[in-house]
Amino acid sequence: MSTAHILGFPRIGARRELKAATEAHWKGTLDQAGLKETAKELRRRHWDLQKAAGLDYVTVGDFAFYDHLHNVTALFGAAPKRFDLTSVDLSGYFAMARGTPQQPALAMKKWFNTNYHYLVPEIGAETQFKLNRDWLLPEVSEARELGHAVKVVLPGPLTWLWLSSAEAGFDKLTLLSSLLNSYWVLLGDLKAQGVEWVQIDEPILSLDLPQDWLAAYPIVFRELCTAGSKVLLATYFGDVSAHAELLKRIPIDGLHLDLVRAPAQLDAFLKDWPENKVLSAGVIDGRNLWRSDLARALTTLHEIKAVLGERLWISASSSLLHVPHDLAQETKLDPRIKNWMAFANQKLDELALLKRAMNEGEAGVWKELQVAAKAIEDRRNAPSTKRADIRARVAALKDSDTERQSVFGKRIAAQQAVLNLPKLPTTTIGSFPQTAEIRNARASFKAGKLSEADYIAAMKAEIKFVVDKQEQLDIDVLVHGEPERNDMVEYFGEQMDGYAFTQLGWVQSYGSRCVKPPVIYGDVSRPKAMTVEWTKYAQSLTTKPMKGMLSGPLTMLFWSFVRDDLPKRDVALQLALALRDEVVDLEAAGIKVIQIDEPTIREGLPLKKADWPEYLDWAVRAFRITASGVRDETQIHTHMCYSEFNDILPSIAALDADVITIETSRARMKLLDGFAEFKYPNDIGPGLYDIHSPRVPAADEMKTLLQRALAVVPAERLWVNPDCGLKTRAWPETEAALERMVATAKEMRATL
Ligand code: GLN
Ligand code: ZN
Repeated sequence: MSTAHILGFPRIGARRELKAATEAHWKGTLDQAGLKETAKELRRRHWDLQKAAGLDYVTVGDFAFYDHLHNVTALFGAAPKRFDLTSVDLSGYFAMARGTPQQPALAMKKWFNTNYHYLVPEIGAETQFKLNRDWLLPEVSEARELGHAVKVVLPGPLTWLWLSSAEAGFDKLTLLSSLLNSYWVLLGDLKAQGVEWVQIDEPILSLDLPQDWLAAYPIVFRELCTAGSKVLLATYFGDVSAHAELLKRIPIDGLHLDLVRAPAQLDAFLKDWPENKVLSAGVIDGRNLWRSDLARALTTLHEIKAVLGERLWISASSSLLHVPHDLAQETKLDPRIKNWMAFANQKLDELALLKRAMNEGEAGVWKELQVAAKAIEDRRNAPSTKRADIRARVAALKDSDTERQSVFGKRIAAQQAVLNLPKLPTTTIGSFPQTAEIRNARASFKAGKLSEADYIAAMKAEIKFVVDKQEQLDIDVLVHGEPERNDMVEYFGEQMDGYAFTQLGWVQSYGSRCVKPPVIYGDVSRPKAMTVEWTKYAQSLTTKPMKGMLSGPLTMLFWSFVRDDLPKRDVALQLALALRDEVVDLEAAGIKVIQIDEPTIREGLPLKKADWPEYLDWAVRAFRITASGVRDETQIHTHMCYSEFNDILPSIAALDADVITIETSRARMKLLDGFAEFKYPNDIGPGLYDIHSPRVPAADEMKTLLQRALAVVPAERLWVNPDCGLKTRAWPETEAALERMVATAKEMRATL
């Protein structure tokens, strides 16, 4: 018999119950006991779902109040000294996650190439581990008392260490043996509690790992396998076939492979797979919300079963953390499109169905399989997923579509003749404070409570207010403030064909924060202009240049759930063409400066460096197609935040935006050194102040930063702006900070 299981389940709750409870607890309106009660109820519900679907184990240990990697930090008592915690209880756990009046929070980083963020453990020579069983064992008892067969999941020691941060020069592996000791003790306890299997997650195996880290794997798993329970080593998000020999050799009891992201790796493992090990096949996508092609999955499963027999386990590619909970809650989705989807609950059913097909034979479940096959078929044949006009336009793209008319030097001269800007021109990144009033107006309009005319009037009033403010502040290149936008991707997605929106398709981003990504289900196009009216209106209020504001093709791609039946590259090109039309329309409407925001170019980077060039090639191409439909005189800006760029600077330069604005203030302009060293040729606007906090930096502080920037960027290439958009800020600090920023620019200008 084949076994079915999942690597992990979303924990936030189908109605985001955990978010509500956690935030109430932080506000002081729900005590710890109340929060823990909600958590327990959610775990119970999620285990019940797994059991009811027909999985063989429920997965325990995937729950976290904030982040699963942070749970390991708590479980092994590895709180950084600066928090002064003798042992980590729930309040200490939150203190590290959110910061205290004395201590900033642990840093947050993206979990591989997902949009989930983990809390970065801080380690050093002083780090000591002390097992705190309360962070796991009670959950195991809970599940056992409910009568479940339990498989425990734990992020592995090497992954935890690798993802931690330490002072330069500190060899993280020196902590391995003491950390391993704690794991060993814990696994013994789990065995004593009757836990048969422990899943140890080592997703870093799909990165480029140095030799000494790879060499640690046999040592770690030799140790863990003597500890008690059987060990299933889980890899995901990528190809680990380079380590096939290693993984066959080390004494684990089973291995999980992501056969959605890296189906071709299977062969390397099927060949000579040791007889004492199971193989868990991740054949259902844990990262996307589409129904699986079960027929294709069954082909793979049969291939494995033919070799391994009973040692085949069936699973999703990764934890289901990255998909929304329950499709059944969606009442507004187009039924046809809804029928193409599967959220976490539905994926449990898919797994159970695959298991039955393998164990009982396909004849027993042919009806269910047929329903699934019909949905796949319907999606494949739906006119919206294959529009001839859009496909033809992408196919007809020529190299010249990626080229501006002239090189940067010539363009910038033409732009300067039109724009007539002073040296060190000032601008902002797009959004201005989104007050409760603006939000209410948008919500009322959406709910049908505010007429279109009243809504437009309200937005225009806000735009006028923002333009007037910028004129008073004497900013050089103005923006309209983006009051009509709830979100930089959703706003554009709603106006494009090929996009769908869920009501409750939330996925955890970090802590209690969730995002509800739009869904690209079909070929993407822009039926009509999206931003031209607002921008034109804003321009009519001023003689200064008004900057048009667009989200770029990569951002539209990476912050959405993307169809899995077309290469990402092609979706990006469709988006690029749709946005290119908007750029051209803005220019035709008299807009002389257009910004194409691309904060996500780094997010798309593949896990292995060898795959970077191919990605960067199409990413750059998509941006250039978006930007290249305009005359030399039209100035194209791009904006990118929270990123290091040094290792991809050639590609950033290849975007060839006339002006790039970047977030640099928190790193005190350090980012610019790379740009200078690379001799980045075009204009740069390094952020002069941090917009994440209401703090207004002192004039001296801004001046120092601007001087630093001037030391590395030629004055005639330098712009002055904040780090990012201002929508999360309030007006008083916004005005004060911008006033100071403009004054600083003017003061420096006078010295040039
Ligand atoms: N134009 C957007 C804004 O100002 C940019 C947001 C972003 O970079 N994340 O809000
Ligand atoms: Zn930004």
